[in-house]
Amino acid sequence: MPTDLPIIITIDGPAGTGKSTVARTLAHRLGLDFLDTGAMYRAAAAILIDKEIPLEEAGELVSAVIGADLHFDWTADPPTILAWDAPIDHRIRDEDVTAIVSQIAAIGELRTHMVRKQQIIAAQHPRLVSEGRDQGSVVFPDAAVKFFLDADPAVRARRRADQLRLEGHDVDEASMLERIRRRDEIDSTRADGPLIRPEDSVPIDTSGLSVKGVIDEMERVVRERVSALIGSGE
Ligand code: C5P
Repeated sequence: MPTDLPIIITIDGPAGTGKSTVARTLAHRLGLDFLDTGAMYRAAAAILIDKEIPLEEAGELVSAVIGADLHFDWTADPPTILAWDAPIDHRIRDEDVTAIVSQIAAIGELRTHMVRKQQIIAAQHPRLVSEGRDQGSVVFPDAAVKFFLDADPAVRARRRADQLRLEGHDVDEASMLERIRRRDEIDSTRADGPLIRPEDSVPIDTSGLSVKGVIDEMERVVRERVSALIGSGE
């Protein structure tokens, strides 16, 4: 991998496909930065809850998010997200945030702000693996390599439940599946930046694959694509 080549790799897909883990490891292997755009929407949801902003007050929410100046500490691995210059990673995975984040992420004004912010981040970090729902379709339509990760909803619910159990939580897998389905439904049907598989993306069904198997395959695709790009002089 040439170390001076600007390259954007996007990874989109629904909740529980292992996007964050594979994106982070792939970025490590290739010497690229890693952007978790879900963390930005989660931060906005946490701000809405903690500042008691009504869901229908989109303008107030966007003003608060702009005022918070969401940004990442790139010296941390993985980068941590800050609002009002204070880390908020500890807050953004809480149950109340997860329950509401898809509704927040459906707000058009907020998405416009986030898309612009993500493009600015990429201008400052031009060698980037960026994961989310709209990275290949809306934010970086010219990305060098686009992946779309998917998995059976039951497999996704089980993975998420296993992860939470490891963290010491009590989990009902049936209700986890229900919540994942609801989040998929909202994310896929919203007007702005819905979760779709970009036509020019590489689809990977992670249902029956190990995390290492998924990352190996992605790394192979990227290295092949980069060689072809260099070879063609693009
Ligand atoms: O990836 P993660 O589960 O942390 O994302 C949380 C939520 O943020 C998603 O369910 C989705 O509603 C929203 N999101 C989005 N666009 C992105 C990333 C996340 O709408 N690029």
